[in-house]
Amino acid sequence: MAERMIVVGGDAAGMSAASQARRRRDRTDLEIAAFERGHFTSYSACGIPYWISGLVPERDQLVARAPEAFRDDFDIDVRMRHEVTAIDLDRREVVARDLDGDREVRVGFDTLVYATGARPVQPEWARDDVAGVFGVQTLDDGAALLDWLEREPRPRHAVVVGGGYVGVEMAEALVQRGLSVQLVEQAAQPMSTVDPDMGELVAEAMRGTGIGIRTGMKVTGLDERDGRIAAVVTTEGPIPADVVVLGLGVRPNTALAEAAGLPLGPSGAIRVDRRMRVPGVPGVWAAGDCVESLHRVSGMPVHVPLGTHANKQGRVVGINIGGGYATFPGVIGTAVTKVCDLEVGRTGLREQDAAKAGFEFVTVLAESTNRAGYYPGAEKMTVKLIAERPSGRLLGAQIVGRSEAAKRIDALAVALWNGMTVDEMTALDLGYAPPYAPVWDPVLIAARKAVDALAGTGR
Ligand SMILES: Cc1cc2nc3c(=O)[nH]c(=O)nc-3n(C[C@H](O)[C@H](O)[C@H](O)COP(=O)(O)OP(=O)(O)OC[C@H]3O[C@@H](n4cnc5c(N)ncnc54)[C@H](O)[C@@H]3O)c2cc1C
Repeated sequence: MAERMIVVGGDAAGMSAASQARRRRDRTDLEIAAFERGHFTSYSACGIPYWISGLVPERDQLVARAPEAFRDDFDIDVRMRHEVTAIDLDRREVVARDLDGDREVRVGFDTLVYATGARPVQPEWARDDVAGVFGVQTLDDGAALLDWLEREPRPRHAVVVGGGYVGVEMAEALVQRGLSVQLVEQAAQPMSTVDPDMGELVAEAMRGTGIGIRTGMKVTGLDERDGRIAAVVTTEGPIPADVVVLGLGVRPNTALAEAAGLPLGPSGAIRVDRRMRVPGVPGVWAAGDCVESLHRVSGMPVHVPLGTHANKQGRVVGINIGGGYATFPGVIGTAVTKVCDLEVGRTGLREQDAAKAGFEFVTVLAESTNRAGYYPGAEKMTVKLIAERPSGRLLGAQIVGRSEAAKRIDALAVALWNGMTVDEMTALDLGYAPPYAPVWDPVLIAARKAVDALAGTGR
């Protein structure tokens, strides 16, 4: 009899696992069923800000593979609008509710893949159902927001709550639609995924785009008038709004896992081993925004909910279930984003992470340009490096600048992944031509500066 694999969650991690397993084992050997409570499979939440801005015109462009394609091309039994409500490890079955038919089904499994993603942080004040307040976690959220933006009376004043990358990208999207935008962040600057000095550069540049940055301010409530949002109430007074977008971060979606007795790690996400197996629970795997990963620099378990990891981890699960051998070697915290023409990249540890992990280190800020100074379009680029003292090993890097800034972080990520020292990095054979870099690339200038800082010369 064929083995049965059940997947809970039909997006990046879950469907990567399902399709990889199918590539290696056919239906007579492995039956695969995937339960998804929403309306879409394999969709790109990452693309929502660009859909809202109008840059991507159609919602369906964000769907990489629809349920029919999984059924027809991969022989995967995709059960849409089915929410798994319980996992019974003793009986080895899942209980799911058909949200449209309102009936319950029980399906047995040999192998279970837990890939439920993350859930948005929702403070008490955000739980009231006020018309005009939106999250942007799913395509349905995006559709509801778009509908509100296009419906009369059209909103003109937006407040984005939360200055992480989702908040920042949504602020850009709303500005591009012609709204006046205020971004409220309780920390001292937006983009707390970079150090405060780099975050200040982001804030400065965002102000230049017309986005109002309200930092050090906590939202405490929402005011409504005639059944619609009228203002966001903050510790510094109300801010008028006719549309509000919440970008307050996410937590691993572990409720079902906890109820079933799957182990959580110190980050609050599900513990997995290098092959993405849930330890101590045979036949159960987990991947994506619901799991924690090893940080390769700090050695600590961390929760880094990003699509890039979800896809890779799902693939690892699928290869292993398919009879192959694959591991997920951990993360180093590489991430990029943009707000209007400003680009931000980061990898490795911030100063506070390096200190927490017990490293001795030096930091340098190097200012240069993205192109040769004389070449049209040359713009300022700031590179920050954090290097271990005295070894010189790169621990972290951040970049803020205009064009070609964000993806330069990849060179630094590769250096960091391979444990390079800043001294070794000064000799890296990076590409040079005036349209793409000064003769000393900003990455090399920063590495040289870090070498000097380690030597105490600071030239
Ligand atoms: C606006 C936005 C922008 C982003 N931008 C980027 C970016 O630029 N780069 C990047 O790397 N990442 C980005 N991300 C993060 C990325 O989208 C996620 O990391 C990725 O989607 C995680 O995939 P996943 O499969 O683990 O979880 P999810 O995509 O959350 O999928 C989990 C699925 O499980 C379903 N589900 C949950 N519980 C149940 C249940 N009980 N029964 C049935 N189904 C269930 C959910 O409906 C969902 O479809 C962004 C996210 C957002 C919201």
